[in-house]
Amino acid sequence: MNIHEYQAKEILRREGVPIPPGEIATTAAQVEQIARRLGGMVVVKAQVHAGGRGKAGGVKLAKTPAEAAEVGKKILGMQIKGLTVEKVLVTAAADIETEAYVGVIIDRASKRAVFMVSPAGGIDIEEVAATDPDKIMRLPVDPRYGLQPFEAMEMGFFLYKDVARARAAARIMAQLYRAFIDSGASLAEINPLVTTPDGEVIAVDAKMVIDDNELDRRPDIAALRDESAEETSELQARRANLTFIKLDGDVGCIVNGAGLAMATMDLVKYYGGEPANFLDIGGSSSPEKVVNALRIITADSGVKAILFNIFGGITRTDDVANGIVTATKQSPLTVPLVIRLTGTNEEVALKILAENGFAATSDMDEAVQKVVALAKGGAK
Ligand code: GDP
Ligand code: MN
Repeated sequence: MNIHEYQAKEILRREGVPIPPGEIATTAAQVEQIARRLGGMVVVKAQVHAGGRGKAGGVKLAKTPAEAAEVGKKILGMQIKGLTVEKVLVTAAADIETEAYVGVIIDRASKRAVFMVSPAGGIDIEEVAATDPDKIMRLPVDPRYGLQPFEAMEMGFFLYKDVARARAAARIMAQLYRAFIDSGASLAEINPLVTTPDGEVIAVDAKMVIDDNELDRRPDIAALRDESAEETSELQARRANLTFIKLDGDVGCIVNGAGLAMATMDLVKYYGGEPANFLDIGGSSSPEKVVNALRIITADSGVKAILFNIFGGITRTDDVANGIVTATKQSPLTVPLVIRLTGTNEEVALKILAENGFAATSDMDEAVQKVVALAKGGAK
């Protein structure tokens, strides 16, 4: 689950991380009021679940409350990576001397939280990793002991030569680590961590991603979810208990099992197509799940053809067949459908489909080639 910058900052502030004060606004008038309250120079920042807001024009400095209102008007309602800006954070501007990067992520390979820090902050850390890998220090944290003070200090000195700044940074890393662990995060980053001309070290941006599996035991964190900021189709899928990720292609895929879903996407790519989504209807697929899946996929106008790829183990293929029939009766399809289905109750499923005018194959290879051709507007 993504949370907004202002929410991540709230969590970090509670741990003691120095962060300039700020408030949330949804109108230009509110932006102006907040800027007046804060006094001095402010930054108006789009609150959307997307990185690189700065480059997209979603982060702007303003010298006066009137100017703040003006940039607020521009940023509110703008689109950043397909997401509409509904809220902005208005925060006191920091006087920036240097920008560093500090992040913690769960590294699946080492099964640890790993710190990544770099004196080259502000920009994409992926860019630094590609062009200047020596400027990044990685430090895996032993979960038995947590981040040790000497480790934090080592990273502090990697960022700053000056002892006072290094020490301040080390303290912030310890606070960031605690916030990361306590919130069940899979990522927590401060980019940039800045130094000011008078030697202060402060966080001017914050990002946290929470591991969905941690939410059940952290209702306070789960309550931070902002459904208005989520992709509509992903939101609907979550409500329908489907594992769904929207992609940019035109072949809609409805599959049971994550492994089969991955294999299906690979095969679609192999035959020159582009999957429109990842969708796993799960093991025990009731007809209702199939109805929901079809509704979500057909709502995407980019989808030119749909593929069902079902391997019936626990899943009963007749349930899926019934789902297809029910869903298409409720709202007839406007794009072609290719069905591949094999396994439990296959004979019954094929009969149901045939009676309702659907063709099906048990061959995955054949089905994928067919759906890719259909998506491209090919014959058959
Ligand atoms: P992002 O682009 O979404 O990562 O948004 P950031 O909050 O990181 O802001 C992008 C850039 O705007 C930063 O790297 C800074 O250069 C600049 N910026 C952000 N906040 C401030 C601030 O308080 N003062 C100044 N002078 N610049 C800022
Ligand atoms: Mn940033």
